[in-house]
Amino acid sequence: MMTPLLEVKGLQKLFPVKKGWFQQPSYVHAVNGIDATVYEGETLGIVGESGCGKSTLGRCILRLLEPTRGEILFQGRDISQLPKKEMHAVRRHMQMVFQNPFDTLNPKLKIGQILTEPLLSHGIPREQRQSLLEETVEIVGLNKRHLGRYPHEFSGGQRQRIGIARALMLQPKLIIADEPVSALDVSIQSQILNLMQDLQEHLSLTYIFISHDLSVVEHISDRVAVMYLGEIVEFADKDKLFLQPLHPYSQALLSATPTSDPDEKHERIILRGDLPSPSNPPQGCKFHPRCHACMEICRTEVPRLREVDGRQVACHLY
Ligand code: SF4
Repeated sequence: MMTPLLEVKGLQKLFPVKKGWFQQPSYVHAVNGIDATVYEGETLGIVGESGCGKSTLGRCILRLLEPTRGEILFQGRDISQLPKKEMHAVRRHMQMVFQNPFDTLNPKLKIGQILTEPLLSHGIPREQRQSLLEETVEIVGLNKRHLGRYPHEFSGGQRQRIGIARALMLQPKLIIADEPVSALDVSIQSQILNLMQDLQEHLSLTYIFISHDLSVVEHISDRVAVMYLGEIVEFADKDKLFLQPLHPYSQALLSATPTSDPDEKHERIILRGDLPSPSNPPQGCKFHPRCHACMEICRTEVPRLREVDGRQVACHLY
C-alpha cells in the first residue's frame, strides 16, 4: 500500500496588492485551495505556465513562504502552524533544489563550506561532517577535489549537482525541485534528470518536481498535477495524462509539445490571449476566456475537481 508522506489540504496563499488609502484592499490568489497527497517514493510533477502559482506552492509547502490558509501534513503531522524552531528541525527532512544554483551559492565560499552550512545549522557532530561531505559529493558525480573550489569554477550542470548535493546533505525524505533543469542545455538536462532518478532509487527519495516543460515532467513523474491560475485543473497518473488529457488546458499544453514520431498527426491547440491577472481572475471557470470548448455555464459557474476516468478534472465538460 502506498504511504502518504505529505498531504496539503485547502492550501492558499494570498499576496496583498497595494492600492490607494481609500480603496478596498485586494489580493493576488497565487495559490487557491490546493488539495494533494504525495506518496513515499513517488515523483509528483507540477506543471503549468509561468505565473500559475506552482513555485509559490512549493515554497508554501516548505514554509519558505507562509501560507495564508490550509494544512500541511508531513508524515501525518500538521506543520503549517509550527513555531520557527520546530519548523527548522522538520526542514531537515524536506529540502529544495532551485532553478539557478548560481544565485543561491555564495560566491565567496568554497563548495566544502557551502555544503557544510546545513550540517552546522542542524548540529551534526564534527566527526560525521567530513564523511557526509565526501559521500554526498561523490553520489552526485563530483569528487573531493571539488570541495576546495569556488562556485564560479564550475559549469552550469556541475553547479546544479552542487545544488542537489546541498539538498541531500541532511539526508531528507522529500525534495521539492523548482525548475531544476530549465536553465541548462538540453544535453545536460538529461544528465541531471538521470542523476535525480538514480538518487531517488538509491536513497528512497520522494520528489515534487515543478516545471513548465511537459517533456521533462513526462520523463520524471509518476503522477502529474496541471495548475492554472493557482488551482489544480487536472490531476492524473502520468501515462493517463499524456495519452489522453481531459481538461482543455492540459490538451492545449500537450498539443504544443513536440513528438519524437514525425508521422504522428499532431493538431496544435492555440491558447487565446495571455494568462489573466491572478489579482482579477475571470468569473466562473478561470480558463474560460482562453478555452476552445467554452460553454455558457463556464462563464458563471466554477467547475470543481471531480473524479473522471480514474483521475481528477475541474471542467464542466465532465
Ligand atoms: Fe473550458 Fe468550460 Fe471546461 Fe473551463 S469548464 S475548461 S471553460 S469547457
